[in-house]
Amino acid sequence: MAEPVRDAFREKCGVVGVFGHPEAATLAYLALYALQHRGQESAGIVASDGAALIAHRGMGLVADIFTQDILRKLAGRLAIGHNRYSTTGSTILKNCQPFVVEWAHGALAIAHNGNLVNAEALREQLEARGSIFQSTSDTEVIIHLIAGSQATTLVDRIIDALRQVRGAYSLVFLTETQLIAARDPHGFRPLVIGRLGDATVITSETCALDLVGAEYGREVLPGEIVIVDAAGLQSVRPFTPAAVHHCVFEYVYFARPDSLVFGRNVYEIRKALGRQLARESGVPADIVIPVPDSGVPAAIGYAEEARLPFEMGLIRNHYVGRTFIEPSRSIRHFGVKVKLNAMREVLANRRVVVVDDSIVRGTTSQKLVAMIRHAGAREVHMRISSPPTTNPCYYGIDTPSRDELIASTHSLEDTRQFLGADSLAYLSERGLYAFARGDAGGFCDACFTGRYPVPLDEDHRVRQLHLFEACDRA
Ligand code: AMP
Repeated sequence: MAEPVRDAFREKCGVVGVFGHPEAATLAYLALYALQHRGQESAGIVASDGAALIAHRGMGLVADIFTQDILRKLAGRLAIGHNRYSTTGSTILKNCQPFVVEWAHGALAIAHNGNLVNAEALREQLEARGSIFQSTSDTEVIIHLIAGSQATTLVDRIIDALRQVRGAYSLVFLTETQLIAARDPHGFRPLVIGRLGDATVITSETCALDLVGAEYGREVLPGEIVIVDAAGLQSVRPFTPAAVHHCVFEYVYFARPDSLVFGRNVYEIRKALGRQLARESGVPADIVIPVPDSGVPAAIGYAEEARLPFEMGLIRNHYVGRTFIEPSRSIRHFGVKVKLNAMREVLANRRVVVVDDSIVRGTTSQKLVAMIRHAGAREVHMRISSPPTTNPCYYGIDTPSRDELIASTHSLEDTRQFLGADSLAYLSERGLYAFARGDAGGFCDACFTGRYPVPLDEDHRVRQLHLFEACDRA
Protein backbone atom coordinates (compact mmCIF):
# COMPACT_ATOMS: atom_id res chain seq x y z
CA MET A 1 0.00 0.00 0.00
CA ALA A 2 3.00 2.31 0.14
CA GLU A 3 2.99 3.06 -3.56
CA PRO A 4 -0.21 5.11 -3.80
CA VAL A 5 0.90 7.51 -1.13
CA ARG A 6 4.26 7.99 -2.68
CA ASP A 7 2.66 8.84 -6.00
CA ALA A 8 0.13 11.09 -4.43
CA PHE A 9 2.97 13.08 -2.99
CA ARG A 10 5.31 13.14 -5.88
CA GLU A 11 3.81 14.34 -9.06
CA LYS A 12 5.27 17.51 -10.40
CA CYS A 13 4.58 17.99 -13.99
CA GLY A 14 4.05 20.10 -17.07
CA VAL A 15 0.69 20.47 -18.78
CA VAL A 16 -0.59 21.93 -22.04
CA GLY A 17 -3.94 22.34 -23.76
CA VAL A 18 -4.58 23.52 -27.32
CA PHE A 19 -7.91 24.56 -28.79
CA GLY A 20 -8.71 25.49 -32.39
CA HIS A 21 -5.60 24.55 -34.35
CA PRO A 22 -5.45 22.01 -37.20
CA GLU A 23 -2.22 20.60 -35.75
CA ALA A 24 -3.21 20.70 -32.10
CA ALA A 25 -1.33 17.50 -31.17
CA THR A 26 1.88 18.73 -32.80
CA LEU A 27 1.64 21.99 -30.87
CA ALA A 28 1.07 20.01 -27.68
CA TYR A 29 4.12 17.90 -28.55
CA LEU A 30 6.27 21.01 -29.01
CA ALA A 31 4.98 22.48 -25.77
CA LEU A 32 5.81 19.27 -23.91
CA TYR A 33 9.27 19.43 -25.46
CA ALA A 34 9.72 22.92 -23.98
CA LEU A 35 8.37 21.67 -20.64
CA GLN A 36 10.59 18.60 -20.51
CA HIS A 37 12.34 19.93 -17.38
CA ARG A 38 9.01 19.62 -15.50
CA GLY A 39 8.86 15.87 -16.03
CA GLN A 40 11.01 13.22 -17.63
CA GLU A 41 9.37 10.01 -16.55
CA SER A 42 6.52 9.84 -19.00
CA ALA A 43 4.51 11.95 -21.39
CA GLY A 44 1.19 11.75 -23.15
CA ILE A 45 -1.09 13.59 -25.55
CA VAL A 46 -4.83 13.20 -26.03
CA ALA A 47 -6.40 14.78 -29.12
CA SER A 48 -9.97 15.30 -30.22
CA ASP A 49 -11.23 15.47 -33.80
CA GLY A 50 -14.57 16.74 -32.52
CA ALA A 51 -16.12 13.30 -32.30
CA ALA A 52 -13.76 11.13 -30.24
CA LEU A 53 -10.65 11.31 -28.10
CA ILE A 54 -7.51 9.53 -29.13
CA ALA A 55 -4.54 9.11 -26.80
CA HIS A 56 -0.90 8.20 -26.90
CA ARG A 57 1.16 7.89 -23.74
CA GLY A 58 4.53 6.38 -22.99
CA MET A 59 7.45 6.17 -20.61
CA GLY A 60 10.51 8.31 -21.16
CA LEU A 61 11.28 11.60 -22.85
CA VAL A 62 8.90 13.39 -25.19
CA ALA A 63 11.28 12.94 -28.15
CA ASP A 64 11.32 9.17 -27.62
CA ILE A 65 7.57 8.71 -27.18
CA PHE A 66 6.14 10.49 -30.22
CA THR A 67 6.89 9.92 -33.90
CA GLN A 68 5.46 11.70 -36.93
CA ASP A 69 3.18 8.73 -37.50
CA ILE A 70 1.84 8.87 -33.96
CA LEU A 71 1.27 12.62 -34.16
CA ARG A 72 -0.60 12.14 -37.45
CA LYS A 73 -2.91 9.68 -35.72
CA LEU A 74 -3.60 12.24 -32.98
CA ALA A 75 -5.73 14.19 -35.42
CA GLY A 76 -8.01 17.06 -34.54
CA ARG A 77 -8.14 20.71 -33.51
CA LEU A 78 -8.04 20.07 -29.75
CA ALA A 79 -5.38 18.40 -27.64
CA ILE A 80 -3.99 18.26 -24.14
CA GLY A 81 -0.60 16.94 -23.04
CA HIS A 82 1.31 16.08 -19.90
CA ASN A 83 4.90 15.46 -18.79
CA ARG A 84 5.37 13.50 -15.60
CA TYR A 85 8.38 13.66 -13.34
CA SER A 86 10.45 10.61 -12.54
CA THR A 87 10.11 9.13 -9.08
CA THR A 88 11.46 5.91 -7.70
CA GLY A 89 9.00 3.06 -7.70
CA SER A 90 6.37 4.78 -9.77
CA THR A 91 7.68 4.19 -13.26
CA ILE A 92 4.55 2.48 -14.45
CA LEU A 93 2.53 3.21 -17.53
CA LYS A 94 -0.82 3.18 -15.75
CA ASN A 95 0.18 6.39 -13.95
CA CYS A 96 0.99 8.23 -17.18
CA GLN A 97 -1.25 11.16 -17.95
CA PRO A 98 -3.43 12.46 -19.47
CA PHE A 99 -5.96 10.02 -18.05
CA VAL A 100 -8.89 9.30 -20.35
CA VAL A 101 -12.27 8.02 -19.23
CA GLU A 102 -15.43 7.13 -21.07
CA TRP A 103 -18.55 7.77 -19.09
CA ALA A 104 -22.26 8.33 -19.58
CA HIS A 105 -21.64 11.87 -20.84
CA GLY A 106 -18.94 11.08 -23.39
CA ALA A 107 -15.18 11.03 -23.06
CA LEU A 108 -13.05 13.11 -20.73
CA ALA A 109 -9.27 13.50 -20.47
CA ILE A 110 -7.42 15.18 -17.61
CA ALA A 111 -3.82 16.28 -17.00
CA HIS A 112 -2.67 17.57 -13.62
CA ASN A 113 0.29 19.51 -12.26
CA GLY A 114 0.34 19.67 -8.48
CA ASN A 115 -0.59 17.51 -5.53
CA LEU A 116 -3.75 17.13 -3.53
CA VAL A 117 -3.28 16.90 0.22
CA ASN A 118 -6.61 15.14 0.90
CA ALA A 119 -6.49 12.69 -2.02
CA GLU A 120 -5.97 9.69 0.20
CA ALA A 121 -8.99 10.40 2.42
CA LEU A 122 -11.17 11.11 -0.63
CA ARG A 123 -9.96 7.95 -2.27
CA GLU A 124 -10.88 5.87 0.77
CA GLN A 125 -14.37 7.39 0.79
CA LEU A 126 -14.79 6.80 -2.93
CA GLU A 127 -13.57 3.22 -2.69
CA ALA A 128 -15.96 2.59 0.20
CA ARG A 129 -18.75 3.73 -2.14
CA GLY A 130 -17.60 1.31 -4.84
CA SER A 131 -15.26 3.34 -7.04
CA ILE A 132 -12.55 1.26 -8.65
CA PHE A 133 -9.25 3.03 -9.25
CA GLN A 134 -7.00 2.18 -12.18
CA SER A 135 -3.92 4.10 -11.13
CA THR A 136 -2.18 5.09 -7.93
CA SER A 137 -2.33 8.79 -8.75
CA ASP A 138 -4.25 11.42 -6.82
CA THR A 139 -5.45 12.87 -10.12
CA GLU A 140 -7.81 9.94 -10.60
CA VAL A 141 -9.66 11.07 -7.47
CA ILE A 142 -10.77 14.18 -9.39
CA ILE A 143 -12.17 12.01 -12.17
CA HIS A 144 -14.21 9.92 -9.73
CA LEU A 145 -15.52 13.04 -8.01
CA ILE A 146 -16.59 14.45 -11.39
CA ALA A 147 -18.27 11.18 -12.36
CA GLY A 148 -20.10 10.99 -9.03
CA SER A 149 -21.31 14.59 -9.07
CA GLN A 150 -25.06 15.24 -9.28
CA ALA A 151 -24.56 18.48 -11.23
CA THR A 152 -25.81 18.56 -14.80
CA THR A 153 -23.13 20.30 -16.87
CA LEU A 154 -19.52 19.16 -17.05
CA VAL A 155 -18.25 22.51 -15.78
CA ASP A 156 -20.56 22.29 -12.77
CA ARG A 157 -19.37 18.76 -12.12
CA ILE A 158 -15.77 19.93 -12.26
CA ILE A 159 -16.59 22.75 -9.85
CA ASP A 160 -18.31 20.26 -7.58
CA ALA A 161 -15.26 17.98 -7.65
CA LEU A 162 -12.72 20.72 -7.12
CA ARG A 163 -14.66 22.09 -4.15
CA GLN A 164 -13.88 18.80 -2.40
CA VAL A 165 -10.14 18.65 -3.05
CA ARG A 166 -7.47 20.56 -1.15
CA GLY A 167 -3.96 21.29 -2.28
CA ALA A 168 -2.29 22.27 -5.52
CA TYR A 169 -3.72 21.81 -8.98
CA SER A 170 -3.16 23.32 -12.36
CA LEU A 171 -5.40 21.18 -14.54
CA VAL A 172 -6.34 20.85 -18.18
CA PHE A 173 -9.38 18.83 -19.26
CA LEU A 174 -10.39 17.79 -22.75
CA THR A 175 -13.74 16.61 -24.08
CA GLU A 176 -14.62 16.03 -27.73
CA THR A 177 -15.41 19.73 -28.11
CA GLN A 178 -14.06 21.65 -25.10
CA LEU A 179 -10.77 22.55 -23.49
CA ILE A 180 -11.16 23.41 -19.81
CA ALA A 181 -8.40 24.65 -17.50
CA ALA A 182 -8.53 25.12 -13.73
CA ARG A 183 -6.14 26.46 -11.13
CA ASP A 184 -6.49 26.02 -7.39
CA PRO A 185 -7.56 29.04 -5.35
CA HIS A 186 -4.05 29.46 -3.89
CA GLY A 187 -2.38 29.41 -7.31
CA PHE A 188 0.45 27.15 -6.16
CA ARG A 189 1.55 26.03 -9.61
CA PRO A 190 1.73 28.21 -12.70
CA LEU A 191 -0.71 28.11 -15.63
CA VAL A 192 -0.79 30.61 -18.50
CA ILE A 193 -2.95 31.39 -21.52
CA GLY A 194 -1.56 32.28 -24.94
CA ARG A 195 -2.97 32.97 -28.40
CA LEU A 196 -1.71 31.57 -31.67
CA GLY A 197 -3.84 33.16 -34.38
CA ASP A 198 -7.34 31.91 -33.62
CA ALA A 199 -6.06 29.10 -31.44
CA THR A 200 -5.77 29.13 -27.64
CA VAL A 201 -2.83 27.50 -25.87
CA ILE A 202 -2.92 26.97 -22.09
CA THR A 203 0.24 25.68 -20.49
CA SER A 204 2.46 25.57 -17.41
CA GLU A 205 5.14 27.98 -18.54
CA THR A 206 5.55 30.68 -21.14
CA CYS A 207 8.65 28.95 -22.60
CA ALA A 208 6.16 26.53 -24.19
CA LEU A 209 4.22 29.43 -25.71
CA ASP A 210 7.48 30.81 -27.10
CA LEU A 211 8.32 27.55 -28.82
CA VAL A 212 4.97 27.21 -30.57
CA GLY A 213 4.96 30.90 -31.49
CA ALA A 214 1.98 31.78 -29.30
CA GLU A 215 1.65 35.17 -27.71
CA TYR A 216 1.40 35.32 -23.93
CA GLY A 217 -1.93 36.67 -22.80
CA ARG A 218 -2.29 36.22 -19.06
CA GLU A 219 -2.24 33.70 -16.24
CA VAL A 220 -5.18 31.48 -15.47
CA LEU A 221 -5.99 33.20 -12.19
CA PRO A 222 -5.95 31.38 -8.87
CA GLY A 223 -9.39 29.82 -8.44
CA GLU A 224 -10.33 30.43 -12.07
CA ILE A 225 -11.84 27.92 -14.46
CA VAL A 226 -11.43 28.73 -18.14
CA ILE A 227 -13.67 27.06 -20.72
CA VAL A 228 -12.63 27.22 -24.37
CA ASP A 229 -15.02 25.95 -27.03
CA ALA A 230 -16.79 27.01 -30.23
CA ALA A 231 -18.41 29.85 -28.25
CA GLY A 232 -14.99 31.33 -27.40
CA LEU A 233 -13.27 31.66 -24.03
CA GLN A 234 -15.36 31.91 -20.89
CA SER A 235 -14.14 32.26 -17.36
CA VAL A 236 -15.72 31.49 -14.00
CA ARG A 237 -14.34 31.94 -10.50
CA PRO A 238 -16.65 29.75 -8.45
CA PHE A 239 -14.53 29.19 -5.34
CA THR A 240 -14.36 31.22 -2.17
CA PRO A 241 -11.39 33.54 -2.66
CA ALA A 242 -8.33 32.34 -0.76
CA ALA A 243 -4.89 33.74 0.05
CA VAL A 244 -2.55 33.31 -2.91
CA HIS A 245 0.48 31.09 -2.33
CA HIS A 246 2.61 30.88 -5.44
CA CYS A 247 5.39 28.29 -5.11
CA VAL A 248 8.63 30.19 -4.59
CA PHE A 249 10.62 27.07 -5.51
CA GLU A 250 9.45 27.54 -9.11
CA TYR A 251 11.65 30.65 -9.02
CA VAL A 252 14.51 29.01 -7.14
CA TYR A 253 14.86 25.88 -9.23
CA PHE A 254 11.92 24.33 -10.97
CA ALA A 255 10.79 26.62 -13.80
CA ARG A 256 12.86 27.38 -16.87
CA PRO A 257 14.73 30.69 -16.57
CA ASP A 258 13.29 31.99 -19.84
CA SER A 259 9.71 31.63 -18.55
CA LEU A 260 7.47 34.28 -17.09
CA VAL A 261 6.13 32.63 -13.96
CA PHE A 262 3.51 34.33 -11.79
CA GLY A 263 4.04 37.34 -14.05
CA ARG A 264 7.80 37.62 -13.49
CA ASN A 265 10.83 36.53 -15.51
CA VAL A 266 12.55 33.64 -13.74
CA TYR A 267 16.05 34.49 -14.98
CA GLU A 268 15.89 37.99 -13.56
CA ILE A 269 14.68 36.67 -10.24
CA ARG A 270 17.46 34.09 -10.05
CA LYS A 271 20.02 36.80 -10.77
CA ALA A 272 18.49 38.93 -8.02
CA LEU A 273 18.77 35.97 -5.62
CA GLY A 274 22.46 35.66 -6.53
CA ARG A 275 23.05 39.38 -5.98
CA GLN A 276 21.37 39.19 -2.60
CA LEU A 277 23.44 36.13 -1.71
CA ALA A 278 26.64 38.06 -2.46
CA ARG A 279 25.44 40.96 -0.31
CA GLU A 280 24.64 38.62 2.57
CA SER A 281 27.62 36.29 2.47
CA GLY A 282 30.35 37.58 0.20
CA VAL A 283 33.76 36.02 0.78
CA PRO A 284 37.23 36.93 -0.56
CA ALA A 285 37.65 34.85 -3.74
CA ASP A 286 39.15 34.87 -7.24
CA ILE A 287 36.27 33.50 -9.33
CA VAL A 288 32.57 32.63 -9.17
CA ILE A 289 31.40 29.45 -10.87
CA PRO A 290 27.86 28.07 -11.18
CA VAL A 291 26.66 24.53 -10.82
CA PRO A 292 25.21 24.31 -14.32
CA ASP A 293 22.55 24.72 -15.45
CA SER A 294 20.30 25.60 -12.54
CA GLY A 295 22.91 27.66 -10.67
CA VAL A 296 23.92 29.83 -13.65
CA PRO A 297 21.67 32.90 -13.31
CA ALA A 298 22.28 33.17 -9.55
CA ALA A 299 26.04 32.84 -10.10
CA ILE A 300 25.92 35.65 -12.69
CA GLY A 301 24.10 37.83 -10.16
CA TYR A 302 26.55 36.90 -7.41
CA ALA A 303 29.59 37.66 -9.62
CA GLU A 304 28.12 41.01 -10.70
CA GLU A 305 27.45 42.06 -7.14
CA ALA A 306 30.77 40.77 -5.79
CA ARG A 307 32.65 42.21 -8.81
CA LEU A 308 34.36 38.89 -9.39
CA PRO A 309 34.97 37.12 -12.70
CA PHE A 310 32.23 34.64 -13.65
CA GLU A 311 33.74 31.44 -15.03
CA MET A 312 32.49 28.05 -16.12
CA GLY A 313 34.60 25.78 -13.92
CA LEU A 314 32.18 22.88 -14.23
CA ILE A 315 31.19 21.67 -17.66
CA ARG A 316 27.98 19.80 -18.08
CA ASN A 317 27.27 16.88 -20.34
CA HIS A 318 23.86 17.83 -21.69
CA TYR A 319 22.91 14.33 -22.70
CA VAL A 320 22.48 13.08 -19.14
CA GLY A 321 19.21 13.55 -17.27
CA ARG A 322 18.95 15.37 -13.96
CA THR A 323 20.94 13.36 -11.44
CA PHE A 324 18.36 13.89 -8.73
CA ILE A 325 15.72 11.88 -10.50
CA GLU A 326 17.73 8.78 -11.31
CA PRO A 327 15.92 5.74 -9.95
CA SER A 328 18.47 4.39 -7.52
CA ARG A 329 20.93 5.91 -5.11
CA SER A 330 23.99 4.24 -6.61
CA ILE A 331 23.15 5.64 -10.02
CA ARG A 332 22.49 9.10 -8.63
CA HIS A 333 25.91 9.27 -7.01
CA PHE A 334 27.58 8.01 -10.13
CA GLY A 335 25.48 10.42 -12.16
CA VAL A 336 27.13 13.53 -10.77
CA LYS A 337 30.43 12.52 -12.34
CA VAL A 338 28.77 11.58 -15.56
CA LYS A 339 27.02 14.92 -15.70
CA LEU A 340 29.63 17.45 -14.58
CA ASN A 341 33.38 17.71 -15.06
CA ALA A 342 35.68 20.18 -13.29
CA MET A 343 38.17 22.15 -15.41
CA ARG A 344 41.69 22.41 -14.04
CA GLU A 345 42.49 25.32 -16.40
CA VAL A 346 39.84 27.44 -14.68
CA LEU A 347 40.11 26.21 -11.11
CA ALA A 348 43.78 25.51 -10.32
CA ASN A 349 45.15 27.70 -7.51
CA ARG A 350 41.97 29.76 -7.37
CA ARG A 351 39.75 30.63 -4.45
CA VAL A 352 36.41 29.54 -5.87
CA VAL A 353 32.85 30.55 -4.98
CA VAL A 354 30.49 27.82 -6.21
CA VAL A 355 26.87 28.90 -6.59
CA ASP A 356 24.01 26.39 -6.68
CA ASP A 357 20.28 26.98 -6.32
CA SER A 358 19.62 24.48 -3.53
CA ILE A 359 20.99 21.60 -1.54
CA VAL A 360 18.63 18.69 -1.07
CA ARG A 361 20.43 15.60 0.18
CA GLY A 362 23.84 17.19 -0.18
CA THR A 363 25.27 14.37 -2.25
CA THR A 364 25.65 16.47 -5.41
CA SER A 365 27.46 19.29 -3.63
CA GLN A 366 29.71 16.88 -1.78
CA LYS A 367 30.89 15.30 -5.03
CA LEU A 368 31.31 18.68 -6.67
CA VAL A 369 33.41 20.13 -3.88
CA ALA A 370 35.71 17.08 -4.10
CA MET A 371 35.93 17.42 -7.89
CA ILE A 372 36.72 21.13 -7.70
CA ARG A 373 39.46 20.53 -5.14
CA HIS A 374 40.82 17.66 -7.21
CA ALA A 375 41.06 20.12 -10.14
CA GLY A 376 43.39 22.26 -8.02
CA ALA A 377 41.15 24.88 -6.36
CA ARG A 378 42.81 26.48 -3.33
CA GLU A 379 39.55 27.24 -1.52
CA VAL A 380 35.96 26.18 -2.21
CA HIS A 381 33.11 28.32 -0.88
CA MET A 382 29.60 26.94 -1.42
CA ARG A 383 26.89 29.58 -1.80
CA ILE A 384 23.25 28.54 -2.13
CA SER A 385 20.72 30.94 -3.66
CA SER A 386 17.85 29.75 -1.45
CA PRO A 387 17.40 29.09 2.28
CA PRO A 388 18.08 25.61 3.66
CA THR A 389 15.56 23.07 2.31
CA THR A 390 14.29 21.64 5.58
CA ASN A 391 10.79 20.38 4.77
CA PRO A 392 9.15 18.18 2.16
CA CYS A 393 6.75 19.70 -0.35
CA TYR A 394 3.15 18.46 -0.38
CA TYR A 395 2.09 20.63 -3.30
CA GLY A 396 3.91 19.18 -6.25
CA ILE A 397 7.68 19.53 -6.02
CA ASP A 398 9.72 16.38 -5.62
CA THR A 399 11.52 16.70 -2.30
CA PRO A 400 12.49 13.66 -0.27
CA SER A 401 11.29 13.01 3.26
CA ARG A 402 12.56 15.26 6.03
CA ASP A 403 15.17 12.82 7.32
CA GLU A 404 16.86 12.83 3.91
CA LEU A 405 17.10 16.60 3.71
CA ILE A 406 20.59 17.42 4.92
CA ALA A 407 19.59 20.85 6.18
CA SER A 408 16.94 19.23 8.33
CA THR A 409 19.26 16.72 9.97
CA HIS A 410 22.54 18.67 10.07
CA SER A 411 23.59 22.05 11.42
CA LEU A 412 25.19 24.52 9.03
CA GLU A 413 28.65 23.62 10.31
CA ASP A 414 27.98 19.87 10.08
CA THR A 415 26.72 20.34 6.54
CA ARG A 416 29.83 22.32 5.62
CA GLN A 417 31.99 19.52 6.96
CA PHE A 418 29.93 16.90 5.13
CA LEU A 419 30.41 18.83 1.88
CA GLY A 420 34.10 19.39 2.56
CA ALA A 421 33.78 23.09 1.71
CA ASP A 422 35.87 25.89 3.24
CA SER A 423 32.68 27.81 3.88
CA LEU A 424 28.96 27.37 3.26
CA ALA A 425 26.20 29.96 3.23
CA TYR A 426 22.55 29.88 2.24
CA LEU A 427 20.35 32.81 1.31
CA SER A 428 18.34 34.13 4.26
CA GLU A 429 14.56 33.66 4.34
CA ARG A 430 14.15 37.41 4.05
CA GLY A 431 16.74 37.63 1.29
CA LEU A 432 14.73 35.12 -0.72
CA TYR A 433 12.16 37.85 -1.26
CA ALA A 434 14.67 40.53 -2.27
CA PHE A 435 13.05 40.39 -5.73
CA ALA A 436 9.72 41.39 -4.13
CA ARG A 437 11.28 44.08 -1.93
CA GLY A 438 11.27 41.71 1.02
CA ASP A 439 7.54 40.99 0.79
CA ALA A 440 6.91 37.26 1.31
CA GLY A 441 3.15 37.72 0.95
CA GLY A 442 1.58 35.67 -1.80
CA PHE A 443 4.11 32.85 -1.78
CA CYS A 444 4.41 29.31 -0.45
CA ASP A 445 7.86 28.64 1.00
CA ALA A 446 6.97 25.62 3.15
CA CYS A 447 10.06 23.74 1.91
CA PHE A 448 12.21 26.39 3.59
CA THR A 449 10.06 27.46 6.53
CA GLY A 450 7.77 24.52 7.34
CA ARG A 451 4.79 26.90 7.14
CA TYR A 452 2.31 24.88 5.10
CA PRO A 453 -0.48 27.11 3.81
CA VAL A 454 -2.83 24.17 3.20
CA PRO A 455 -2.36 21.84 6.15
CA LEU A 456 -2.57 18.10 6.08
CA ASP A 457 -4.74 16.98 8.94
CA GLU A 458 -2.58 15.58 11.71
CA ASP A 459 -3.58 11.89 11.48
CA HIS A 460 -3.16 11.96 7.85
CA ARG A 461 0.12 13.72 8.00
CA VAL A 462 1.65 11.18 10.38
CA ARG A 463 0.33 8.24 8.35
CA GLN A 464 1.45 9.72 5.06
CA LEU A 465 4.89 10.65 6.33
CA HIS A 466 5.33 7.11 7.62
CA LEU A 467 4.41 5.53 4.33
CA PHE A 468 6.33 8.15 2.42
CA GLU A 469 9.47 7.41 4.37
CA ALA A 470 8.95 3.69 4.03
CA CYS A 471 8.85 4.17 0.25
CA ASP A 472 12.04 6.15 0.32
CA ARG A 473 13.82 3.38 2.16
CA ALA A 474 12.40 0.66 -0.09
P1 AMP B 1 21.34 16.87 -3.73
O1 AMP B 1 22.51 16.09 -4.18
O2 AMP B 1 20.22 15.97 -3.32
O3 AMP B 1 21.66 17.88 -2.68
O4 AMP B 1 20.79 17.65 -5.00
C1 AMP B 1 20.98 19.00 -5.16
C2 AMP B 1 20.74 19.39 -6.59
O5 AMP B 1 19.44 18.97 -6.99
C3 AMP B 1 20.82 20.89 -6.77
O6 AMP B 1 21.85 21.12 -7.71
C4 AMP B 1 19.48 21.32 -7.31
O7 AMP B 1 19.67 22.07 -8.50
C5 AMP B 1 18.77 20.03 -7.65
N1 AMP B 1 17.38 19.99 -7.15
C6 AMP B 1 16.83 20.69 -6.17
N2 AMP B 1 15.53 20.35 -6.01
C7 AMP B 1 15.25 19.43 -6.93
C8 AMP B 1 14.08 18.71 -7.30
N3 AMP B 1 12.95 18.87 -6.66
N4 AMP B 1 14.19 17.83 -8.32
C9 AMP B 1 15.35 17.65 -8.95
N5 AMP B 1 16.48 18.29 -8.65
C10 AMP B 1 16.45 19.18 -7.65
